Amino acid sequence: MLVDSHCHLNFEQLSSQMDDVLRRAELANVGHMLTIGTKLREFPSVLSIAEQHDNIHCSVGIHPHEAEEEGADVTVDQLLKLAAHPKVVGIGETGLDYFYEHSPREIQKQSFRIHIEAARQSGLPLIVHTRDADQDTIDILTEEYAKGPFTGVIHCFSSGWEVAEKSMEIGFYISISGIVTFKAAKDLQDHVTKLPMDRLLVETDSPYLAPVPNRGKTNEPSFVTHTAAKVAELQGVDPAMIEETTTNNFFKLFNKIDRKVS
Ligand SMILES: [Zn+2]
Ligand SMILES: [Zn+2]
Repeated sequence: MLVDSHCHLNFEQLSSQMDDVLRRAELANVGHMLTIGTKLREFPSVLSIAEQHDNIHCSVGIHPHEAEEEGADVTVDQLLKLAAHPKVVGIGETGLDYFYEHSPREIQKQSFRIHIEAARQSGLPLIVHTRDADQDTIDILTEEYAKGPFTGVIHCFSSGWEVAEKSMEIGFYISISGIVTFKAAKDLQDHVTKLPMDRLLVETDSPYLAPVPNRGKTNEPSFVTHTAAKVAELQGVDPAMIEETTTNNFFKLFNKIDRKVS
């Protein structure tokens, strides 16, 4: 069984065809999904999906794109309160996106640190989004970790090697998305050959970033099989091995999930 460690099932492209999406996931042997919060305003719709399905859990957080609107005022207590729900198993996604820079950098950083504090206090893993912000991501993670430990994952990893290295040094996992199947993603493919298998997760980040051979389509959890196959090829191992390892890694990191009910 595979796990899609990062998807957005509440987004209209997926929620409008939820039954079909989940049926195709089941047929593809994708047995568990983590649907990710991006705005507190939309958190109820994320949580309600998780509440309706035994094999779906969720996270709570504010995407860096939304930091200006919500991240400046959010408090650690507010996140902790929402994260206390049994179906909420991670904090995020949060982080830094200097590629789109939809929110001012200072507000993104402030929101990132508030999420880190919530992860530290709750013991739940932090789900980090980072794009074109390698140095600031490394600096904030390292600085904050020195104040007190927390766990987490770099989701949709597409950064330089140093982000992988420094985040693994503080115990983080690295989640690989469909980007790895793109012809142009040579750097990422090189990085994946070097990543230790016991740090790897796989994800779709659906409805975006559909992997080859489904590029251009609406992405969905069942497509994580293509990403896992590519990761196996790059790691030089059998796909069954990547399936087993990434699934075990997922449940090790998101350890609030009782694996027996999954
Ligand atoms: Zn993201
Ligand atoms: Zn996402």
